Amino acid sequence: MSIIALIDKLFIYPRPWVFTGAGVSTESGIPDFRSPGGLWDKVDPMENFSVRSLYTNPQGFFTHGIEMFKSIEAAEANAAHIVIGELQSKRIFGPLLTQNVDSLHQKGGAFNIYEAHGHIRTATCLECREITVSLAELMKKVADGEIPPRCDCGGILKPDVILFGDMMPDDFQEACNLTRCFNSEDKMIIVVGSSLTVAPVNSFPLDFNEICIINNSSTALDKQANIIINGSAGESLLDLKNKLVELNAGEEIKAFPPGFIPGVMINYLDKAIKKINPILMEADKLVNKLFTDISSSKKILSQYPLMDKRQTIEKAIIENLYNKVIQMENHLKENYNPEDKELAQLPEYLYNVLAANFKLIIRYKSQNIIDEKVLKELILQFLGVTGFYIFSMGLAFIH
Ligand code: NAD
Repeated sequence: MSIIALIDKLFIYPRPWVFTGAGVSTESGIPDFRSPGGLWDKVDPMENFSVRSLYTNPQGFFTHGIEMFKSIEAAEANAAHIVIGELQSKRIFGPLLTQNVDSLHQKGGAFNIYEAHGHIRTATCLECREITVSLAELMKKVADGEIPPRCDCGGILKPDVILFGDMMPDDFQEACNLTRCFNSEDKMIIVVGSSLTVAPVNSFPLDFNEICIINNSSTALDKQANIIINGSAGESLLDLKNKLVELNAGEEIKAFPPGFIPGVMINYLDKAIKKINPILMEADKLVNKLFTDISSSKKILSQYPLMDKRQTIEKAIIENLYNKVIQMENHLKENYNPEDKELAQLPEYLYNVLAANFKLIIRYKSQNIIDEKVLKELILQFLGVTGFYIFSMGLAFIH
């Protein structure tokens, strides 16, 4: 799937979350865990990067750890980190949740960062929990042969990363709480460079209505994803940025105004259309309300404030959304006619057909007397689910 499909979604879901994994940093020279030749091939992470190994095999932990810390310290942000930071500052991308511990997003100019697995900028004493030293100080202790490196109180100094066996940090909880606060709103997440196999962070994207994945191999959430861009993190994000600049008539994009979120109207209309259920007796009212909403959305978009002062990309977004509203209006006109006599009879017709079927099933299964109330509930639930499906099929089957 293409970057264009992602841009189309960006217009509708403003400020998507970005969620990154080790694959966003391989182009900076830091190996990931699971690619061939990645860290997994060289060391057993359970053996070397777990809380247990910190106590039972500190030599292994710090010897392998130090190798990784050194390569991380020397690494520079790559195109992927830089584009993510830039698009955040243009108010095109929203907050960032990263599994990486390398601080390259900070180096690349990103902000509003939640570090799901901590970071290695500092290390904290496991005993007193009060003393925190910098990575440089920790590395010096290890280089001087102090393994494990210790605090003055005698406790082991542990890098502030989340190891196998550790509790998840506040950052992860906060990111989860924040997204759940907005559960009533439609939202999108862009996952970059993660195999999505490490729990519990890999279920974070499931809180979003739209999932876009940019990765150079398959991931554990490909089936749930709406858009999959199979490619390099850096190249794909640069491509995205260049296409956005093209949409802005080749000019550098200025930050979008804080309240520039016309896409929410499309979400609202889309949701409302999906709610239409021929079984609801007030379906006609709902459709009439939708036609009114559609015409006010058209009006708002066609008279969008400060239109003449907006940069080209903002005009393009509004034009694109206007066209989408027209498409929705046409779809609704083609598929739903409140005057349709046959349609008005549909609820009763469906109810009777399904009631007969349910009765048969229940009688067959239990041979018991059927509770009409339960039966009615079952049927209504079933129809609620099928309602939109029937509607979107253009009600073909009754003709
Ligand atoms: P992972 O190794 O499981 O998956 C990385 C994914 O990125 C793979 O699917 C790989 O095919 C893909 N990939 C690699 N290079 C890419 C590129 N240039 N462009 C696009 N895709 C690319 O990594 P994960 O899902 O993040 O989980 C591993 C765990 O390891 C995380 O918890 C993370 O904390 C830790 N880790 C972090 C770093 C780091 O901080 N840089 C490095 C290694 C591991």
